[in-house]
Amino acid sequence: MNLANLLGIHPIIKALQQILNMKKIAILFLLLLSATCFAQDSLYVRKTVNTLSSSAMWGRGYTKDGMKKAADFLSAEYKKIGLSPMGNDFKQGFSFPVNTFPGKMLVEINGKSLRPGKDFIIGNASPSTMKTGNLQKIDSTHFVVNPNLKVELKDKLTWSVATEVSSETTIEINRKNFTSIPKQIKVDIENKFIENFQASNVCGFVKGTKYPDSLLVITAHYDHLGGMGTATYFPGANDNAAGVATLLSLAKYYKSNPQPYSIGFICFAGEEAGLIGSRYFVENPLIPLSKIKFLINLDLVGTGESGMTVVNASLYPKAFSLLNKINDQQKLISKINPRGKAANSDHYFFTEKGVPAFFIYTQGGPTAYHDVFDRPETLPLTEYKDLFKLIVTFNKEMMQ
Ligand SMILES: [Zn+2]
Repeated sequence: MNLANLLGIHPIIKALQQILNMKKIAILFLLLLSATCFAQDSLYVRKTVNTLSSSAMWGRGYTKDGMKKAADFLSAEYKKIGLSPMGNDFKQGFSFPVNTFPGKMLVEINGKSLRPGKDFIIGNASPSTMKTGNLQKIDSTHFVVNPNLKVELKDKLTWSVATEVSSETTIEINRKNFTSIPKQIKVDIENKFIENFQASNVCGFVKGTKYPDSLLVITAHYDHLGGMGTATYFPGANDNAAGVATLLSLAKYYKSNPQPYSIGFICFAGEEAGLIGSRYFVENPLIPLSKIKFLINLDLVGTGESGMTVVNASLYPKAFSLLNKINDQQKLISKINPRGKAANSDHYFFTEKGVPAFFIYTQGGPTAYHDVFDRPETLPLTEYKDLFKLIVTFNKEMMQ
């Protein structure tokens, strides 16, 4: 007679208790496992953001081969993860015109040399300019040497990419760093216009187990602004190394957890030059657009202290309320702000073709944007885990 019988506990109840205990242990084990999985992903995401934002990739743009290095890195990651290519290989090539600044980047005001990126930026369409002259005051923030050489005082320097060259050179100066009145200027800058800059989208997928022809797609642009001169680059940690790193971590997850639908992953190029890569993809799709059941575009997702915004929320109210339901149930993001249609990232041309899509970006924390301060060291990645869980659960529900 065993102790259980002695105490009057029926053997079946005891067996049930044992099963329950085992189940508890199993659940505990699974929880621990998933916690470590997420922890490892956090490390992977952080490492990937650092790599993409490093000087080696030179702002993933148009000088020092930055964008190509980033595309090669992403293709290698896709291969390592075990994704299948959408086309013959992971890269989908295309070209576009772009104005670049590979050389001299000298600006002196009142005999003082200014630091590129921190003290000044030049208009993105500026031509090569070599000039010394006196500045005429137009108003308290505008000064000119002649109609083709202008200086403007700004509270914030925000750079971008131009696909043409203008006859005008504009120099924006950070008034926080330069407080005296600009009187004399010396400029020596070099541009190089590239008619057919070669770029590529990086496209892969995990094949579905039950309905492989149906797709859910995650997208994020990997290009940024590149460099301005030989010593200054724009790291683009939040814009959009964070989105790409999140995409890669989702690709890893889906490769080890295949779903009924195929899951597609596209890292676009040319976004900062005017959504060029995503437009090219939509016009030359490697997958039938009509088979995309939903697309989530990630751009600027490295913060999240005060929540996130969903573009196209009002276009897809059912999907948006599902997203909110999951978020409330799992207590993930502090606030989800709905927004209407907007042509502000790579979801846009998909939306125009009738592909249901959300564009997600986060808010709060560091506000660096299109400047040299969008660095990995100060990017908190506050909501990475929550966003990851939200997307995985949302996609799961979309396949029901
Ligand atoms: Zn962006």
